Amino acid sequence: MTIATPSAFLERHDEAVLDDLRSLLAQPSISATGEGIDDCATLVRQSCLEYGFDEAEIVETPGRPAIIAHAFADGEASEDESTVLLYGHYDVQPATATEWESPPFEPTLRDGPDGEPRLYARGAGDNKGQWFAHLCAVRALRETTGVPTDVTLLIEGEEESGSEHLEWLVRDRRDELDADVAFVADGPIDESGRPHVLLGSRGLLYVDIEATGANRDLHSGNFGGPVPNPATAVVELLASLRDETGRIALEGFHDDVRPLTDRDREILEAIPVDEEAVKADLGLSALATDTDDEYVERLLCRPNLNVAGLDAGYDGEGMKTVLPSRARAKIDFRLVADQDPDDVFDSLSRHVEERAPAGIDVTLSRVAAMAPQRTSADSPVVEPTMRAVREGWNADPILKPSLGGSVPTYVFADNLDVPCLVVPYANADENNHAPDENIALACFRAGARTTVALLEELSNADLE
Ligand SMILES: [Zn+2]
Repeated sequence: MTIATPSAFLERHDEAVLDDLRSLLAQPSISATGEGIDDCATLVRQSCLEYGFDEAEIVETPGRPAIIAHAFADGEASEDESTVLLYGHYDVQPATATEWESPPFEPTLRDGPDGEPRLYARGAGDNKGQWFAHLCAVRALRETTGVPTDVTLLIEGEEESGSEHLEWLVRDRRDELDADVAFVADGPIDESGRPHVLLGSRGLLYVDIEATGANRDLHSGNFGGPVPNPATAVVELLASLRDETGRIALEGFHDDVRPLTDRDREILEAIPVDEEAVKADLGLSALATDTDDEYVERLLCRPNLNVAGLDAGYDGEGMKTVLPSRARAKIDFRLVADQDPDDVFDSLSRHVEERAPAGIDVTLSRVAAMAPQRTSADSPVVEPTMRAVREGWNADPILKPSLGGSVPTYVFADNLDVPCLVVPYANADENNHAPDENIALACFRAGARTTVALLEELSNADLE
């Protein structure tokens, strides 16, 4: 009997596929420590070849190795086919076994809190289960109707450690990775249980601020007044980063913020969110926004400055009248297209330099930076992608201009000059980075069907 359609193939091989996913999840691959990384890279490469890719290579980087695999539409490389680049990562977060119901590297099938079957293991949702769905799709197409477009798969091995060499790798292999569109399947679907398509992500700039005053902690009675206080300096500096309306007050900060188009506003308005429910969930009497629309716009399309940590002086019980010798703060900016983290850091440096009080030495250290990225809502890839996700999930996807958080979609958009979209396949309660990480089988299967539909849709689309 021949199986005519990719979806019939997927259904028929469901059990064998889940066994293969379990083997992948049983292989530790912790980028923070290096545990199992090389063995996992070998396994990823092997799996690509077994699942219908024509070529698969382990690529050494200055950090952890990556895998680049190609599945060609007619079995061999050709200039005429459009190419879809799919990105994922095989490395996982560390796991403390004692906190898990079943051991993190012994994949276990059991029902989730919703009564539906899930596979529990470290990396199930973040991210092995997601890109393994791509492999299943390629194989299902290869065995039935054929792979309709060239597919390049890039699976890196240090995403959980900050993707330090991803941009290096993409630049180094620019020609080989050249594509018409890039997709990132990572993160969870929408909280509502509906799938979503994200046109990009906010960027990040994380900075440590350290202020140093006297060469030792002092008695605030014996020295307070004439001697400058670094804790005061830090809080005043932080306060000066916003104007009286709350707007970030760094010079030039807003200059590069891409204005929202009418289409962007339509998309924002269509995103379901309930401010009242958010307040109830968080136990808050008020939010910084007044309407549901403003909430979504501020979360996804406006930059933000967050004070992530403050540390100075005495915070123990009772009192200690101390004038501390140093104070520290950690801040993170979320940036939106087309802000540049380098420019923001430079502006922040000038701002601090101009305002640091006499006698206080303030140093800034850049801890992490990631550029924002946003694909235009008018890009010709948006509609075919929405159709594919609708088909894969049998549900209407929510289109969002951006992820509130930061993933390195800019690496593909900027270096390969391609539209880049995030289409997550994991359930909203995947417990990524936490004990009992899991992927709902329904989500995994929907993911595989989505990739099939995506490749079919894009092969028919005019992507110019
Ligand atoms: Zn992660």
